[in-house]
Amino acid sequence: MGVCDNLKKVLENIDEVSSNCGRKGKVKLLAVSKFHPIEKIEQAILAGQKLFGENRVQEAYDKFSILKVKYPEIELHIIGHLQTNKVNKALTVCDCIESVDSIKLLNEINKCCEKTGRTVNVLLEFHTGEESKTGFLSEEEVFEALSYIKTNCPSVLPLGFMTMAPNTDNLNQIRNSFKKLCLLKENAQKKFPFWDFTELSMGMSGDYQTAIEEGSTMVRIGTAIFGEREY
Ligand SMILES: *Cc1c(COP(=O)(O)O)cnc(C)c1O
Repeated sequence: MGVCDNLKKVLENIDEVSSNCGRKGKVKLLAVSKFHPIEKIEQAILAGQKLFGENRVQEAYDKFSILKVKYPEIELHIIGHLQTNKVNKALTVCDCIESVDSIKLLNEINKCCEKTGRTVNVLLEFHTGEESKTGFLSEEEVFEALSYIKTNCPSVLPLGFMTMAPNTDNLNQIRNSFKKLCLLKENAQKKFPFWDFTELSMGMSGDYQTAIEEGSTMVRIGTAIFGEREY
C-alpha cells in the first residue's frame, strides 16, 4: 500500500480507538518521516498531513528547509536526542523540540532563541522504559528542569511530556510506561499551575492503541505510514 492509503488507515484507527475510550478528537498524528525521502513526505502532505517528526537534525534540515518553503502550513517536531551544538540548526526548521532531556540543552535552546527573539515550544522527555536510554530519569529531575525554565528560560514554553515505551511484547510493561507519563503530567500540573501542560506525546506504530487508551494526545507514527526504514 502507498503512503496515502496507509495514512488513511492509521487515521481511521486512531479515530476508532479514541472513540472507544471516550477520547475522540483528542489525539493528533505526528508522521515520523526519518530515513524516508522528500517524495514520500510530499505524498503525505498532499493527502492532508501537516504534522511531521524527524529525529536527526541534519536530515531534518535537508528535507524540511525545502518542504517548508513549498508547504508553509506544515509543522516539524524534533523527536530524537539533540546535541547542544545542533540546536541552532534545529531551530531554523523545527516548531517544537520534543526530546528535551537536560538543563544544559534547555539553556542552549533559550540562548539560541533569544538571539532571534523567538519562543519555542518544547516537551520534556521522561525515561519510563528500561530500554530507552534518553530522557529525564526521575520526577524530581523533571521538576528541577521546569523550575529552571521558569526562572532562566523565558524563550522556552513547555507544553507537556514525551516518552518512548520499552520495545517489548509485554503489554503490561508498555501500558505502565504510558501510565507513568500520564501521572508525571498530573503531578507537574499541580506543582506548576503557571503553565498549562496539554501534550502527552506517546505511542508509536506498535503501541499507539495502548497509548491512546492511557491518555496520549499525540502519537508518533513512522513505519505504519511510510513503511520499513532502510538504515
Ligand atoms: C522512529 C521514532 C518513532 C516512530 O517509530 P515507528 O515504530 O516507526 O512508528 C517514534 N518516536 C521516536 C522518538 C522515534 O525515534
